[in-house]
Amino acid sequence: MSWLSRVRNGIPFLPKRQSTETLWYKCVKCGTMVFLKEWEDNYQVCPRCDFHDRIGPKLRFRYTFDDGEHEMIAAPEVREDPLKFRDSKRYTDRLKAARAATDQRDALLNARGKIGGRTAIVGAQNFAFMGGSMGIAVGAAFLAGTRAAIEAKAPYLLFTAAGGARMQEGILSLMQMPRTTVGLAELKEAGLPYIVVLTDPTTGGVTASYAMLGDIQIAEPGALIGFAGQRVIENTIREKLPEGFQRAEYLLDHGMLDMVVHRKDLRKTLAQLIDYLAPAKAA
Ligand SMILES: [Zn+2]
Repeated sequence: MSWLSRVRNGIPFLPKRQSTETLWYKCVKCGTMVFLKEWEDNYQVCPRCDFHDRIGPKLRFRYTFDDGEHEMIAAPEVREDPLKFRDSKRYTDRLKAARAATDQRDALLNARGKIGGRTAIVGAQNFAFMGGSMGIAVGAAFLAGTRAAIEAKAPYLLFTAAGGARMQEGILSLMQMPRTTVGLAELKEAGLPYIVVLTDPTTGGVTASYAMLGDIQIAEPGALIGFAGQRVIENTIREKLPEGFQRAEYLLDHGMLDMVVHRKDLRKTLAQLIDYLAPAKAA
């Protein structure tokens, strides 16, 4: 090894230039510049206005499980691009790009670990993967999650984030709605709870199926939750919609949710719920 590469590898003789982006986070909602470390320590929530930024499964699992410890549950292989779909780009190319960007095979991942000392299976959808959209792979991963829960006699928790069904799979993506519902029926038959945490945004076919079927429905503050978008509804009914329509707090006020919980309190709340719903220990 030459002295130059040794210096390059070992001694930071020239401080790496740090740009503003690496040190500061600019809140999407209130525009405040927050010290990145402070923002990360605050679960990627703005400490000034409580804006909950979107996060992927990796952070979800770390925030949700005790000490962040968990093991991933492998997602089943599914047939890809069954319709040989192409719009401005090939569907297979879109998949490739999403995989490269997120380091995930598809939009829904599951992991096993403990929450408050009790085993739980947790699924999390990644909005960064083609808008978290629900296709065959998401349906299969969802079933893998409910079945892992049945096997472990544990609850299934799901963090939803989706723009809806994956249009590139046409009717096959819509078929995931009844398919996941069957998975939930099996879970129910086994007497195991299903807890949903709706995160920003949860819309379309996902809202119309497994996202709204939880035994307990939780949402993160400010999350957009709906079926059709606000503009579509306004154009259809020709009326202005009320302030905060389709936001978590509005849905809570109108009986669509059980609770809205700040991200920093989620693990504690979930632990309490799991404990409460767990079957009593045999004497
Ligand atoms: Zn803010």
